[in-house]
Amino acid sequence: KWQAPVNGEYAPNINPADPGEILGMFPESCHADVDEAIQAAVKAGPSWRQTPSPERGRLLLKFADLLDQHADALGEILTREQGKILKESVGEVQRAAVEARFMAGEASRLAGETLPSERRGVWIQTIREPLGVVGAITPWNFPVVTPVRKIAPALASGNPVVFKPASDTPWTAVYLMELLIEAGLPPGVVNLVIGSGSVVGQRLAESPLVNGITFTGSSATGRRIYTAVAQHLGRVQLELGGKNAAMVTDYPDLEGAAKEIVAAAFAASGQRCTAISRVIVSRAEAPRLTDAVVELVRQIKVGNGLSRDATMGPLINKERLMTVEESVGNAKNSGARLLTGGKRLTELGNGFFYAPTVLDDVKPDSLLAKEEIFGPVLPIVTVDSMEEAINVCNDTPYGLAASVFTEDIDKAMQAAGAIRAGMIHINHGTASEAHVPFGGVKASGQGA
Ligand code: NAP
Ligand code: MG
Repeated sequence: KWQAPVNGEYAPNINPADPGEILGMFPESCHADVDEAIQAAVKAGPSWRQTPSPERGRLLLKFADLLDQHADALGEILTREQGKILKESVGEVQRAAVEARFMAGEASRLAGETLPSERRGVWIQTIREPLGVVGAITPWNFPVVTPVRKIAPALASGNPVVFKPASDTPWTAVYLMELLIEAGLPPGVVNLVIGSGSVVGQRLAESPLVNGITFTGSSATGRRIYTAVAQHLGRVQLELGGKNAAMVTDYPDLEGAAKEIVAAAFAASGQRCTAISRVIVSRAEAPRLTDAVVELVRQIKVGNGLSRDATMGPLINKERLMTVEESVGNAKNSGARLLTGGKRLTELGNGFFYAPTVLDDVKPDSLLAKEEIFGPVLPIVTVDSMEEAINVCNDTPYGLAASVFTEDIDKAMQAAGAIRAGMIHINHGTASEAHVPFGGVKASGQGA
């Protein structure tokens, strides 16, 4: 059932393409609401854990079908509150359906092992047990697929959930709950609490009644959550930031590489944890690759994600816009050369629009080359050898994804072995699939 926040407080949800448009008022929940949600999950836990796992899987199959059926309607809501173009939004909902369907199958494969014993006439079994209440805390950049990626496996494995979505994208979260209800989810098994990270999220992480937290977001928040959960020895799974390189060396089809790089760099306005956010290219190939990248970036059409001809939407909010502006300003001051973009697009109105941006002459040790910007900004670093390319690639706190473009199989294998990243792609941009492991090393994640 739906209920009002105890404190009666609400905040507006605005459209990032047109901040004057208030999409709705959503709760600013307080500790009492979180505690009540946790209690509901604790209460629903025993019955959910005893529900046969194939039956839990059937519910997820129904949920997956509903996601597909509602892809257009939910996709439009996603675009209105998040900003990404409609095609990407609908694709995200369909992708969430694939994730839910995969997990539905996993519910029937929660197998254990049978082992021999040292004693005669004795068999030993290992059994997979539900963990208990799972807290799911998600960011705003993929407000449909990321929650589904957390909630579906928790449910398949018999765990009740308390779900805290990002404050910028509560509407899609409400819609997901409606679909779960329609799929037949029993009361208390998934509980949505809308409110701020520091109040709702922090309370969830601190509660000893929450047995595990699955979190996607920034590395800074991930550290805070890890610390809080450690106090009661809960489990954590953290999917954090990235500074994902596309490394290009000995690759004749530089125009093809540029196409892959630009798509992976500017989807969701560059606000993807696995977005390509720097190019590392050999000095010989740099001029042609750079020209091809810039030409493609100039073709990107920024606009309201609902408009048919837009190929990139706004940034999520004003803070992000200011951070991106500041990062590009600092980069220019530290000697990087602006090739295209580098400014707000005020001609598009008050929306948080920023021009897709490419810079070269970027020093490998500059902030632009090392730190996550999370926006439509692509720095190009030139190197003189494969060894230097790998060193530059690894010289960042992050280790999420990387792409290597090369026709030299030895170099491809050398890079795949030497790059410290959770996911390495050869000759295509960064991408992920539902049935394939996803996660990072170093400051990019934990427990994936
Ligand atoms: P964020 O500030 O870390 O927020 C993520 C979520 O955590 C939001 O729901 C937020 O709530 C909540 N939160 C904030 N402070 C909290 C606290 N003290 N305790 C518990 N929860 C708290 O991240 P963001 O800036 O919104 O998202 C962008 C970041 O996410 C980027 O760094 C990006 O790389 C990363 N990301 C990683 C992945 C991945 O899979 N590796 C995927 C997507 C994004 P509020 O919204 O209310 O602040
Ligand atoms: Mg909003």
